[in-house]
Amino acid sequence: MENCVFCKIIAGEIPSSKVYEDEDMLVFRDINPQAKVHCLCVPKSHFATLAEMDEAQAELVKKCMIKIPEIASSLGLDGGYRLIVNQGKDAGQTVHHLHIHILGGQDMGEKML
Ligand code: AMP
Repeated sequence: MENCVFCKIIAGEIPSSKVYEDEDMLVFRDINPQAKVHCLCVPKSHFATLAEMDEAQAELVKKCMIKIPEIASSLGLDGGYRLIVNQGKDAGQTVHHLHIHILGGQDMGEKML
C-alpha cells in the first residue's frame, strides 16, 4: 500500500530494528517505546482495522497470535507482557496498518490506562 509506513518497513524501504520475520509477519521495535520492551507485530498484508479484515488476513492474525509467545520468550518477557491493538481514532491509532503492540520488560500494573 502506497504511503503506508509499515508496508515500507516490510518492503525494506524504511529501516527497522527487526526482532523476527517470516512469510506472514514482521516484528520490530517501536521507534517510540512506551515500555522497556515495546515491539510491533505486523501482518504482511495491508488492512487498517479488524473491521476491514478478510478471511486470509484473519489467518495471518491467527499466525501472529500463535507466534507471539515464542517471540515474547525470545525477548525475555518471562514475567508476562501486554498486547494492544488500537482500532481507529478514539484508540489513538496512528498507523493504519493493523499491528499488535507487545509491551513488557517491567511491571505495568493492573490499570490499563
Ligand atoms: P498506533 O498508535 O497503535 O497506530 O501505533 C503506531 C506505532 O508505530 C507507534 O507506537 C509508533 O511509535 C510506531 N511507529 C511509527 N513509525 C515507526 C517506525 N518507522 N518504526 C517503528 N515504529 C514506528
